[in-house]
Amino acid sequence: MARLPIDERLEEIVRTVRAGRDVVIAAPPGSGKTTRVPAALLDAVEGGVVVLEPRRVAARMAARRVAEERGGRVGDEVGYSVRFESAVGARSRLVFQTEGTFLRRLLDDPAVEGTSVVVFDEFHERSLDAELLLGMLREVKETLRDDLRLVLMSATFDAAGIAAGLGAERVEAEGRPYPVEIEYAPRRKDERLEDAVARAVAREVERAGSAAARGVLVFLPGVGEIERARRTLEPLLAGRGVDVLPLHGELPAAAQDAAVRGGGRPRVVLATNVAETSLTLDGVACVVDSGEARVLRRRPGELVDALRVEPISRASADQRAGRAGRQGPGRCVRLFAESAYRGLPAALEPEVLRVDLTAAVLTLRAWGVRDPASFPWLTPPPPGALESAGELLGRLGAVDADGAVTAVGRRLAALPVHPRLARMLDEARRVGAGEDAAVVAALAAARRVRRRVDPTVARSDLLVLLDLFHRARAARFDRGTVERLGLDARAVRGVDREARQLARLLGRGPGGGATDEALLRCVAAGFPDRVARRREPGSARALTAAGFEVELDPASAVRDEELFVAIDAVAVGRGRPARVRRASGVDPEWLEELFPAAVASVDETVWNDARGRAEGRRRRTFGALVLDERPLPLLDPERAAALLADAATHPRRLAGLREQRLAGLLARLDCLRRARPELEVPTFDDDDLREVVRAACAGLSSLDALERAPLEEHLRARLGPDVGSRLDRLVPKTWTVPSGRKVPIVYREGQPPVVAARLQEWFGTAESPRVADGRVALVLDLLAPNGR
Ligand code: ADP
Ligand code: MG
Repeated sequence: MARLPIDERLEEIVRTVRAGRDVVIAAPPGSGKTTRVPAALLDAVEGGVVVLEPRRVAARMAARRVAEERGGRVGDEVGYSVRFESAVGARSRLVFQTEGTFLRRLLDDPAVEGTSVVVFDEFHERSLDAELLLGMLREVKETLRDDLRLVLMSATFDAAGIAAGLGAERVEAEGRPYPVEIEYAPRRKDERLEDAVARAVAREVERAGSAAARGVLVFLPGVGEIERARRTLEPLLAGRGVDVLPLHGELPAAAQDAAVRGGGRPRVVLATNVAETSLTLDGVACVVDSGEARVLRRRPGELVDALRVEPISRASADQRAGRAGRQGPGRCVRLFAESAYRGLPAALEPEVLRVDLTAAVLTLRAWGVRDPASFPWLTPPPPGALESAGELLGRLGAVDADGAVTAVGRRLAALPVHPRLARMLDEARRVGAGEDAAVVAALAAARRVRRRVDPTVARSDLLVLLDLFHRARAARFDRGTVERLGLDARAVRGVDREARQLARLLGRGPGGGATDEALLRCVAAGFPDRVARRREPGSARALTAAGFEVELDPASAVRDEELFVAIDAVAVGRGRPARVRRASGVDPEWLEELFPAAVASVDETVWNDARGRAEGRRRRTFGALVLDERPLPLLDPERAAALLADAATHPRRLAGLREQRLAGLLARLDCLRRARPELEVPTFDDDDLREVVRAACAGLSSLDALERAPLEEHLRARLGPDVGSRLDRLVPKTWTVPSGRKVPIVYREGQPPVVAARLQEWFGTAESPRVADGRVALVLDLLAPNGR
């Protein structure tokens, strides 16, 4: 075995651990941390050693390398366990695991039975799961396992603070790197990345000549870019005896080994940032850096965090360049300008600041943490992130009102997917919706599966996608077929892979043959906060249960469903509703079954303006949404009267009542007030009238009934008996003419009262008729015998 820098420190590390201390190790990539430290610990402790890796590919490769160095095979003494894949045998004592896998195990087995040391590899990455695990394991040490040892390994030297915080011993192994000459060869505007890469690599191969077996390591953001670069590069290097080898997590093991080791011939390795610190390639004398990486970021409104291509940090660029100076002086060609380098952020922020925290909060709740804010975070999460995660978990039914995890929540925490997807799968398992549900869940989580959208109408965009997917799968994802269907070839294969893995999680249920109904129900289970109801039939605008507005994109096939879930709801601009490209129809009954605690049934008395009356009704709500309502017999007479009074005293109606029902009486009062100011007859403003109408509404529930109610009597009741009797005596409603007939007196506010009678009826009247103790003369409206 080759000597590595870390070898000189192994004895010290082992001694420290045996003495009962934790250790923080900082040493540059390639020092031997991953391959040498765990093996040395294994020989020094009784129980097992678990090594946590942020990446699957690192876990697999480390297990293979260490097993090989110890002369064994993976699955015997040394094993690995990553999401959806495990090679751990009964005799395995050293297990490389991804952090997420270990996290779920810890929930089941908080005492980490049989494990003596947990090693955090690549701790400088500050992954969310590693930060969670560190806090959780420190608690385990304090309560259940004071013999458990933690070892943190980092490729950067900012470990001092962490070591101090843990009370751990610090071990550093300085690398003695060779100088690396940096050249800036910025990508030209409009130059494709693969062309820039090919240009730089061809030049480097040229420089190196055939003399040395110099390796060139190219950093690219992802698999797509690697494939395009390979296709561009291979013809350029044909016949020059140079191997072009991709290196990323999706490759088979043999291909990964080939890239890491090389075959003795000069090689160009096209790698993602797994080669930045996780995997070390020997014989690299030149690095070509695209300056880009795929970074996991929370995308509000989308189902799962998305990997997005971004410029790397300065720390990352330095690490990448450093890969060229490990075994001799090297070169690094950066495909960006020096000014761009200086403008880069110093370092990528810890994952906890970038990603959705729903799964993390669920883990903490399942761990028994009531208040995630009080968890000893190394990096405190952004404000609001814990609250919104807790809120979604509450809606999903994973935690109860007190924040304690529920039975559903425990099942969701055990599934290695976002709690939304977990809820969908949990529901699928419950109803035996089987494989199709796994495909639908994978489709819901995937982005840009369709390149072209043909207009159609369906209950759910996911059903449309499912149909297309089945057709593509039936054709074995044949390129032509996939294109004809308007699908994205790589996305669709990704969905296929993901769906198979999800189906395995579901176990062998009755499987297959799920009805559309059952599938859509499973979908609804994952989106309780995004249930939306159209503003009106046919409208693209809808209101969600969480109370915000969304708008269906014309690309969505969901046209008729009144109630649907927004699979995605992406903000398009300030003050504009979020845009929903994919939706899925919902039946209110499912909500009642899936989220019984969130459906409220309220019996209430309400005003029906169209019918002009108060009515009883039963209304079912889901968050801010009304699911349905049906009429009931009148429930609450007092409330009904109050509602009627509100409607009747609305300014327009009040004016109507004044004109049509009370004008005469009010004018008589006015007349009396003017004639006998000393009586202090009260005036009636709108507020007084409102009181009168309110009093008249007592015991009533409709405008019709109010129409028949004695409004004048209510007004008079407010006058009191004195004013009432004076009014009748002094400002009578009628005048008796000599013939004995009672002729109505017409009072109008601000005008003298008028009495109309035929001329001959006034014969015998000596003086002009007066009212109000003779103070107000009536105007006689004399009619001809024909009454005109
Ligand atoms: P560190 O974890 O400190 O970055 P590693 O333990 O991964 O370092 O690697 C130490 C050395 O072992 C490096 O020189 C690397 O090239 C070599 N090495 C590690 N894994 C493999 C492998 N699978 N095949 C060949 N060489 C390997
Ligand atoms: Mg390592």
